[in-house]
Amino acid sequence: MKKIKLILLDMDETLIHGEHTKVYYDQYAFLIEDLISKQLNINLEEARVLATKYWGTEDGAGEKFFDDYKIDINHWHNGIIRFDISTITPLPHVMKLIEQLKKEYLIGLVSDCPLIQAQRVLSASKIDKEIFDIFIAWETGKMPPKNGLSNIYKYISEKFELLPEEILMVGDSLRTDIIPAFKYGINVVHVSKKDTGQFPTIPSILELHNYLKRNFS
Ligand SMILES: [Mg+2]
Repeated sequence: MKKIKLILLDMDETLIHGEHTKVYYDQYAFLIEDLISKQLNINLEEARVLATKYWGTEDGAGEKFFDDYKIDINHWHNGIIRFDISTITPLPHVMKLIEQLKKEYLIGLVSDCPLIQAQRVLSASKIDKEIFDIFIAWETGKMPPKNGLSNIYKYISEKFELLPEEILMVGDSLRTDIIPAFKYGINVVHVSKKDTGQFPTIPSILELHNYLKRNFS
């Protein structure tokens, strides 16, 4: 087995986690319902029924709605950047974990969150974005960088001149973090309270250091 050199971390519901973040992340469900209702001209109740097709608490896939209905995804981007971040509190233990990992690995953050919002969320969590060797989020006018595809993982491995097996992707979403990275040959760790049995799984990002010690050293 090749040694892991680069760890890629998802942000939403991976680094930024915990009971207190529920209020913040619930805004995604409200936004998708609101947008579906407005775009399809249906009431919120009907929109909620449709949204549940696109929304799972374990694996949010709100943006897929825009693909399927051919609606401009910038509505999604522009809604997210208006989310209230006042309920996000510092996560010093997460910052400490990243600092620990930095001693041994290159560290990247790869998020489908709009760039400006990702910066705000990290800042409210007291996670210094300068610690990341690569920081990729959703830039205005482009598509979300992960978007359920392997392209971003290929781009990063080429940029760092690393083999896929020298990279580890850690995230809560099977659809955007785990499956596309795995398809490209990248090691994956699914952060989830539910182990699907398909991929290595840890219940919380805080278990990552122990996981690496057990499996990659
Ligand atoms: Mg996530």
